[in-house]
Amino acid sequence: MRDFNAKKKIKKSKMSMRTKLFAYLALFVVFTLLVMWLFQFVFLKDFYEAIMINDLKKGAKVLSENIESSELTHLAERIAQDKNLCVLVFSISDKRATRMVSVDMSKDCMIHRISGEDLAKLYEEALKGGGDHIEHIKRDAFRNLFYDVTDFKGDVPGRDLGMPESTVYVKILNDSDMEYVVMLNTAISPVSATVDTLFVQICLISIILTVFAGALAFVIAKRISGPISKINESAKMLAKGNYAVAFEGAGFSEMDELNSTLNYAVSELSKTDRLQKELISNISHDLRTPLTLISGYAEVMRDIPSENTPDNLQIIIDESSRLTSLVNDLLDLSKIQSGATQMNYERFDLTALIREVMERYTRLTEKDGYTIEFDAAENVHVTADRTRMLQVVYNYVNNAINYTGEDKCVRISQSVKNDTVRISVSDSGEGIPENELPNIWDRYYRSEASHKRASVGSGIGLSIVKEILMLHGASFGVESRMGNGSTFWFELKVEK
Ligand code: ADP
Repeated sequence: MRDFNAKKKIKKSKMSMRTKLFAYLALFVVFTLLVMWLFQFVFLKDFYEAIMINDLKKGAKVLSENIESSELTHLAERIAQDKNLCVLVFSISDKRATRMVSVDMSKDCMIHRISGEDLAKLYEEALKGGGDHIEHIKRDAFRNLFYDVTDFKGDVPGRDLGMPESTVYVKILNDSDMEYVVMLNTAISPVSATVDTLFVQICLISIILTVFAGALAFVIAKRISGPISKINESAKMLAKGNYAVAFEGAGFSEMDELNSTLNYAVSELSKTDRLQKELISNISHDLRTPLTLISGYAEVMRDIPSENTPDNLQIIIDESSRLTSLVNDLLDLSKIQSGATQMNYERFDLTALIREVMERYTRLTEKDGYTIEFDAAENVHVTADRTRMLQVVYNYVNNAINYTGEDKCVRISQSVKNDTVRISVSDSGEGIPENELPNIWDRYYRSEASHKRASVGSGIGLSIVKEILMLHGASFGVESRMGNGSTFWFELKVEK
């Protein structure tokens, strides 16, 4: 019921991928159109004028550079033709202006149609401007009196002359005693007709883009949400405990990656699930064996007084302690893994600690013929949690004794290299199959291979060791070859 409500909430508050994608694409379309709009309508005229003025200036520059050349007229004609300009070049000497070049290409030309007085005004403006001047004549200005436009063929001042706007560029050149004036004029055609066409075009583009954005959002969402829905279906099956589920069918690399991660998670989950089930059967088996022994021996001792021997009592004591240690191991692991256990770091003698562990096995070595060898050249000090390191060494040695071969021999060695001490515990047992090596550190893992004293363990010891060593930031590992025994090791930093 709670889940259902949660689902409903998600549906309500979150937009579907398709709507969201469409919203983003629509935003993109609006932005694109806005930019287009700005450039086409707001800045179009400015751009156009800037380009025109640039053409005028470039033309004037070329003419200025060739002002005394015999090719000047030819050059002026070419520039005028290329750029649809009108050109006038004067030389001024003794305040008298002489027309050197006059190219009248455009019917909308101003400089060929205004009076000499107005030309003189333009020249004065250029003088004031320090050598050059741009005169931009708006459409309305033709009706004004600034320019004497009576010259215009067939036109009367005060009427809309139907002229486009016009720009004149005036450049004055001083060459020793001679002064030249270069005037270029271009008509700026009205952009309103173009703008009207563009407006219709932009409206059409907006409609096309919006439809396209919708279709694109639909297709993309389908391509993305399809695999996601599939993953969702598989995840639901996984949630119901179906570990046979496979995440597949993507179409793009991120989804493929997600699928393989999920497939890996499924395999890990199923492994944990299997191990957990195994643990329950292991633990119940491990609990039952000592309990059966304890109750069996106790009953025998109650019923047959002659069986009331110290040996039998010892069996009861041993089995009880086995039970205790199993339960302790389980508690320990869950405490360490949940982070409830704090490490108590202190400086101590690691070599002495190993000797202490060996002492625990005196009875085993003396009575059962086990040999535990330890070679250490010096006593090494480390900073670590002493009790936990005792647990690590004890686990390694205990496993080695449990799994060692017929010679009942276990070797512990200590080697120091570059401020690091490595403790290795080797046995002469059957070894661990290579494919099982990575798993033995997993909780609840017990090798498939049968061992002599394998029933002793619960498969928890090494996972406790792993947790402790990881908390210490220590390196650890195992080397094992089938038939050649195993060597478990760990490394700690030496304290000088
Ligand atoms: P257990 O209490 O079962 O020994 P551990 O966590 O200590 O649990 O070890 C996990 C498994 O690793 C063992 O069941 C065993 O299969 C394997 N193993 C550990 N130590 C040795 C060893 N010295 N030789 C062979 N196999 C070992």
